[in-house]
Amino acid sequence: MLDHIRIVLVNTTHPGNIGAVARAMKNMGLADLCLVEPKHFPDEAATARASGATDILDAARVVGTLEEAVGDCQLVVGTSARGRHIPWPVIDPRELAAIAAPLSGQSRVAILFGREDRGLTNEELHACHLHVHIPSVEGFSSLNIAAAVQVVCYELRMAVLQDVRAERPQWGTDWDIELADHVELERLFEHLERTLVDIEFLDPNNPRQLMPRLRRLLLRAVPDKVEVNVLRGILKMVDRAVAGELRGQRVGRSKAD
Ligand code: SAH
Repeated sequence: MLDHIRIVLVNTTHPGNIGAVARAMKNMGLADLCLVEPKHFPDEAATARASGATDILDAARVVGTLEEAVGDCQLVVGTSARGRHIPWPVIDPRELAAIAAPLSGQSRVAILFGREDRGLTNEELHACHLHVHIPSVEGFSSLNIAAAVQVVCYELRMAVLQDVRAERPQWGTDWDIELADHVELERLFEHLERTLVDIEFLDPNNPRQLMPRLRRLLLRAVPDKVEVNVLRGILKMVDRAVAGELRGQRVGRSKAD
């Protein structure tokens, strides 16, 4: 039932935590574990803490970048112990479960968990549609990573057992066109950034929060594949217009010279 949900651990330091995560997942019926640049893996400590969940560890995919981990996912969620500089849509694990558990067969979901010492970076969090915060007490808000995975996976399992449906029946759209995946969205953001620099709207030496704000806007809209293609097409025409104008300026200058 939860086959479409992937747990992604980014740069985990302690292999014991990876084992404890595998156990937490298996207890709740999840199996897809992806590790982005773990410090030590495979490792005896991971196997020991996994107890009987070594099958999850054996099947875990180890990758070098976040993009490899979540590229094929239509919904990417980042977990965080604290609020960040730019506010993002934040939900709790129960709300996440109501959205993500029923998506089986429609969208692949990635849930990211950060480093034990620093959590996820702002860049990683800005790649996410939603942030999930476990409402712990202020001033002591950070759970052990495997405990955080346990809480999230428990809510996912409860949503399956109780057949919980989100008020919105699907993530994003409920029409025929598939949602854009992470890779397609990242290509759009890269293209948008290049074009904004070319038209001198974005100053690369002083970018401020323009790209995070545009990411947040577009991720809130949950665009489908066709919508992303239309935006890329518009950007391509802007690129052409800018290139034509620059050529025109050069021609004009050389004529005037
Ligand atoms: N000091 C780090 C916390 C790292 S805890 C920070 O301030 O971000 C390691 C990971 O466990 C986090 O990156 C997050 O994925 C998860 N986690 C811990 N506490 C959490 C909470 N209250 N809500 C959601 N995720 C949490």
